[in-house]
Amino acid sequence: MAVTVITGDGKEITGCVHHSARQLASLQGSRLHPMAALMPWVVDVYCRAAALTPFPWEVGL
Ligand SMILES: [Zn+2]
Repeated sequence: MAVTVITGDGKEITGCVHHSARQLASLQGSRLHPMAALMPWVVDVYCRAAALTPFPWEVGL
């Protein structure tokens, strides 16, 4: 299950649900690729992103 995140400066980063959620939660101005709306697991990305602290790896998560 891959999801593409578009960063604030327009780069596209495709990753798994887990990592895309981290990107969304951490990158200023990042959003999901419009195509992501067609993928049912995207809901999971949003839920995870909302639950994550920005830069969770800095506090060991
Ligand atoms: Zn990953």
